[in-house]
Amino acid sequence: MTPPLEVAEAWERVAADCSVLPAERVPLAAALGRIAAEDARSAVDLPPFDRSAMDGYAVRAADTEPPAALAIAGEVAAGEVAAGALAPGTALGVTTGAALPEGADAILRVEDARVADGRVTPAGPLAPGFHVRHRGEDVARGDVLAPAGAPLTVQAITALASAGVGAVAAHRRPVVHVLATGSELLEVGAPPEPGRIHESNRLSLRLLVEAAGADVVLHPVVPDDLAATRAAVGAALAGDVLAVSGGVSVGPHDHVKPALEACGVEAVFWRVRLKPGKPLWFGRRGETLVFGLPGNPLSTVACFLLFLGPALRRMQGQADAAPPYVPVRLAVPARPADGRTTLLTARLERAGDGVWEATPTEGQGSHLTGALAASDAFVVVPHDAGELPAGTLVDALLL
Ligand code: AMP
Ligand code: MG
Repeated sequence: MTPPLEVAEAWERVAADCSVLPAERVPLAAALGRIAAEDARSAVDLPPFDRSAMDGYAVRAADTEPPAALAIAGEVAAGEVAAGALAPGTALGVTTGAALPEGADAILRVEDARVADGRVTPAGPLAPGFHVRHRGEDVARGDVLAPAGAPLTVQAITALASAGVGAVAAHRRPVVHVLATGSELLEVGAPPEPGRIHESNRLSLRLLVEAAGADVVLHPVVPDDLAATRAAVGAALAGDVLAVSGGVSVGPHDHVKPALEACGVEAVFWRVRLKPGKPLWFGRRGETLVFGLPGNPLSTVACFLLFLGPALRRMQGQADAAPPYVPVRLAVPARPADGRTTLLTARLERAGDGVWEATPTEGQGSHLTGALAASDAFVVVPHDAGELPAGTLVDALLL
């Protein structure tokens, strides 16, 4: 039996097997979190025309030297276009956002205007361009607003919508099939039964996978039986990824590895120097990646954050996707458990100096969902760290 891989090495193996999914056209409203497959460019100049930044009067700046009294030639509201050019010595009423008539080059604000007898007198002379938003001053037609490979964020989508774009090219969402094995498992919300426990992994995986931008196909729970596991795995090997929960350890009822191998899935690695999550199994069949996740709920979440989640981002085109470590400071000493990189459930609090400080929960264990619920993050204590004193900066994975 080959020794377990270190966490970083296991991630490298997974990353090496991720291929980027093809692109498709996606309406902006459905693009959040997707990765742009090509440069998304502005379709227009922004602003598209010279516009007023204020309620007031469009004028010729040269006409505003005192003692000016400009004839009011009418009004254009936002959305309207003036019938003709602004004649010298006149002013046109405008609302914020209205297009300047030809000839106008400044805006006299209402606050700076005195109106009497159909004429408007400026409080003082105006410089050309005053309170004018010039065509193209923000974005020029063809400017890249979301480069290929960048995530389509709310801010990028807002800019693209403003720039006359309705849809973008983005990489397809991965389809992840999720199944759970275990004869002891009860469905979420089912009445308790002696000797059985409530299943949570399919639900947590579904939520995590969807949050990572992928689509989920849920399969029924499979009892611990080789033939049943083999049939279920065979049916679930249909998407970009198969995530199987449970049954990857060395017990007599752990049938997932033989079932996967019988279905032609090639093993890439089994076991990682990780706690929780040591029995993680990873393999592939053709383009389908297969994760055999240890059944304990915290192992499943840990393996998602370290491997499956970043893999899904890579498949969507985020070339630098990796486990999303963030630095935190230990509030108390911590050490790795039995030579494995150890993920400790921890609460985070902002310390006086602004740094996030992590306090591990009292109980630590891959089955402790109560501790998970009370936590904000996993603190990562490297397998070779020895005892880390309080105050050490360490990586954390936010929950
Ligand atoms: P296994 O990896 O199958 O050996 O399971 C390890 C532990 O996780 C056992 O105590 C299982 O009862 C529990 N477990 C397995 N699958 C699930 C699941 N889908 N939801 C919650 N707990 C599970
Ligand atoms: Mg099991």
